[in-house]
This record gives sequence, C-alpha cells and structure tokens, in this order.
Amino acid sequence: MQDFPLTISTILRYGSTTNADSQVLTYTGENLRSTTFAEVGRRAARLANGLRNRLGVTGDQRVATFMWNNREHVEVYLAVPSMGAVVHTLNIRLFADQIAYVAEHAEDRVVIVDATLVPLFSKLVGRMPTVEHVVVTGPADTSAITEAGKSVLDYEELLAGQPDEFDWPELEEHEAASMCYTSGTTGNPKGVVYSHRSMFLHTTQVVSPAGFSLSDGERVLQIVPMFHASAWGLPYACFVSGATMVMPDRFLQAAPLIAMIREAGVTFAGAVPTIWSDVLAELDRTGSAIPTLKRAVVGGSACPPSLITAFEERYGVQIIHAWGMTEMSPLGTVAHPPAGASGEREFAYRTSQGRFPALVRARLIGPDGSELPHDGEAVGELEVRGPWVTAAYYKDDDPAKFRDGWLRTGDVGTITPDGFLNLTDREKDVIKSGGEWISSVELENHLMAHPAVAEATVVGVPDERWAERPLAGIVWRAEPVPFDELRDFLAGRIAKWQLPERWTTLEAVPKTSVGKFDKKEVRRVYGEGGYEVTYLD
Ligand code: AMP
Repeated sequence: MQDFPLTISTILRYGSTTNADSQVLTYTGENLRSTTFAEVGRRAARLANGLRNRLGVTGDQRVATFMWNNREHVEVYLAVPSMGAVVHTLNIRLFADQIAYVAEHAEDRVVIVDATLVPLFSKLVGRMPTVEHVVVTGPADTSAITEAGKSVLDYEELLAGQPDEFDWPELEEHEAASMCYTSGTTGNPKGVVYSHRSMFLHTTQVVSPAGFSLSDGERVLQIVPMFHASAWGLPYACFVSGATMVMPDRFLQAAPLIAMIREAGVTFAGAVPTIWSDVLAELDRTGSAIPTLKRAVVGGSACPPSLITAFEERYGVQIIHAWGMTEMSPLGTVAHPPAGASGEREFAYRTSQGRFPALVRARLIGPDGSELPHDGEAVGELEVRGPWVTAAYYKDDDPAKFRDGWLRTGDVGTITPDGFLNLTDREKDVIKSGGEWISSVELENHLMAHPAVAEATVVGVPDERWAERPLAGIVWRAEPVPFDELRDFLAGRIAKWQLPERWTTLEAVPKTSVGKFDKKEVRRVYGEGGYEVTYLD
C-alpha cells in the first residue's frame, strides 16, 4: 500500500471542499454568527500566510490560544498544525502561576487571544518571556500587552490581504500538531504533545459508531472547552464528517446553552456532568423544551445514573457516558450497550464508563503489581496503551506515570469480559477506611439520586479509629432535608459500614479549572475546620 501520512492538513482539505457548505455557528449572546467550512478553509489559509509572512512563524514553533470555543479558534486548530507549527491551547481557568509556567515551558512564541479575554490575559502577559506577538480577535484595550514589550496585532488585520490558499507542506505524520497541559490539582501541569497521526486516528474514532457516530446531519454543540483535551476531538471530527459546529463562545451558563440548543437546532452536545446538571435544573425551572437534542455525551467525571434517567425520561435526551484523559487525546471508552441488551442490563452498560475501542488496549494492575483478570470483579489500577495515548510528558520525566510502555491512569476499577470499564474511583480519592475501600463516586451517585440534592461530593477525611472515613458535602436543590433522611436513603443502597457519619451543607461544590469536583479543596477546607459538620452516629 502507499505510504500516506495522516495529517491535519488532510482534514482541512477534505472538510473545506467536500463539506464546503457545512457551517460553524458561533453564539454572540444574541444570535449565531455563521461561516461555511469553505470559508473557514480559506480563512485558515490566510491565517497561515499571516503567521508566516508577518510574524515569521516557521518550523514547529508554538502558537498558543487563549480563547473560548468559537470560529476563530477552529481556524487556528486547522491552520497552525497544517502549516507545520504547533497549536498550544492555554487553559484560561488555570491559576495565574500555572498559566505563566505553562506558556514558558511550552516556549509559546505567538498567542492568539479573544478580545473578551484581554483583561485577564493582560495580567499574565508580563510573565510570558518567550511570547513575542499577541494577536487579538477584536477591539480591546491592549495597552498592558504593549507595555509588556509584545507586538500586538488584530486578528482580522493579520488575515487581511493574505492569499486564500497556502501551500500546505507534506508533513511527516509523527510530527507534533498540538499540545495541551493537564489540569491536575497538584504540582505544575504536565504537557502532552499530540502528533498529526495520533490526532488523525483519534478523529476517525470520534466519528465512528464506537465513538459518537457523527455525520453531516448532526448539529454539534461543543460545550467542552477547546483548551480541555481538544474539546474531546469534536472540532476535527465535525470538520471531517461535515457536522455543523455550534460554538458557545463565553456563554456557558445553562440559560444561554438552552437558547443555543433551541436556536441552532442542536442534535448532539458534549459537556462535563456539572454543566448537564445545571442545564437540567434550568429546564425543570423554566419548562423549556429541547426537542432537537437527541444525544448528549457526558464525560470528564463520573456521570450520576440519576442524570441519565432524568434527561431521558423528562426530555427524551439520550445521555452517552464516556471516559478519557488529556493524556489520551482524550477519548478512551464510550458507553454504547451491546446490541440486544435491555432493561437493567442495558442500564448497567450505559452507566459504566464504556467499552474500549480496538485501538486502546487496557489492563488492570493489582496492588502487588500483578495483572488482574477482566472478569468484572477484580479491582485494580487501569493502565492503557494505544496510538493516541501519550508515551511521555513534554520535557518532564515522570516515570511513576508509565510502566513498560503503558500509561498509568490513576483510575481504579474493573473491566468486564466484553471490554466495559467500570471505574470505582480515582486512586487518590478512594476512601481507605479500616483496610477497606469505599468508592466516593458510588456514594455521590446515590446521594445525587435524592430529589432534594442538587450536587453531592464525598471525600475521605482523617479518622482516629478507621484512618479515613467519608465526609458528605451536600448542595441542596431548594429546601434542605435532615441529614438523617439522606443517611436512611443511602442505607438501603450501600453497605452499612460505608455510611458517612460526617455531613455538611455546601453552597457549591468547589470545581477545578475544567469543571470537575475539586476534592483536594474540600479536604483542605475540612482540615482547616472551615465546614460546619453534623456528626451522625
Ligand atoms: P482530564 O485529563 O482533565 O480530562 O482528566 C482525566 C481524568 O478524569 C480521568 O483520569 C478520570 O479520573 C476522570 N474522568 C474522565 N471521565 C470520567 C468518567 N466518565 N468517569 C469517571 N472519571 C472520569
């Protein structure tokens, strides 16, 4: 067979011609700006020309983004890797120190910044020594950026007068296309570099039925940020399949998201569980309907089964649970039940993290380092291997995260003989009580099924007798109920020794930069005596 490199420029070429009339729609707060894929392709060529001719971007220099999900961000995603450079998505929600660290570590030379994010970026740019040029997508006060000694250019001005075509180079498929840093809550973020090949193969997986079955009939709302694990690969997957992209820009609250779903006729969307529970609460409150939305992917944290049931029964939306990691581009498993499964068995498959695809191999490792069977019973640490799983962190040796060429995920769970993953917890969140393990996620899922509970988080806290015991933090939907009632509710569902003694009311569960429960923060506040705790014997 011919040796044909798998590159992003192939996605760009194909999408902008074969899917020429498909559209990228970006929400403005009032309506949707619309651009065809053909126009996005031309603008990507002009952007590449501008970056090369005016800013001298060559080789594998890093062009970073500090942006929301919008059309311009899609153009950068396509243009920068296709010209041979590397797009680095900066997570705008990391702490200032982490953003500064990441930009310098990646040696970002150019940063493309959304006009609405210039005030935030201005506070950071003085700490980005490698950055020479800042490109801004619209009018904004850029004086602080200039004062920091950076050249400032308007995005449209960069594109203006540049040719509509670019002589996309024949790249080698193992070259770097993009990079993203993990959003871990401990230590500095770690860089993951995606190659053209890994991104291309991952894209085909996302498009396929084992992924999200995308086609040109779909209208895909990409809520998950493009700076978090490449928006789960959706931008490239839509471009190649011709699915309409609906981009929320900075309007990520439940009300505008519902407005977008209704206005754009969204059929498919992806976001973390907390966003979906906000959307559900808003739908319930307003009585709005979202009849076009057929499927919604939930990932990034465990999806509470109650969320799956509520969306399906009340709004006819099928929730698809998926699991992945920044280190895995990010798609790992997707919970499509096998054909023929029905009733409770089907639901058990759907609430699992999902089935491994052919190109992600998985194994479970027990505490003594031995490999465990995939029998749906044995619990171990999950390790993965595959062409879109990272082999190392960028300029950072972390041998503890790799074992004989496998990535150690830090996730703990079981695998069924037919390849479905059930995660019980993250290794660092499992509650180790008197030599037994309690799954914090299982307790949370049960608590969130109680009608009075909007959100619940469970963390392990020090206990003199048992080493660790669960603390349950509850966010009420409206009126609180006594904690005894929640404990009784749990008592019918989990073993008695797992029932939490410590309970507290939270105004909101603290969240990480990508919207996951920040359990480290809950443990910290508890440790400092920051919660009013009710103790139930
Ligand atoms: P990130 O790289 O920020 O996407 O984080 C990856 C981690 O998120 C995984 O290692 C899991 O611990 C967690 N995660 C992602 N998806 C799920 C899921 N569906 N269920 C449980 N945990 C998840």
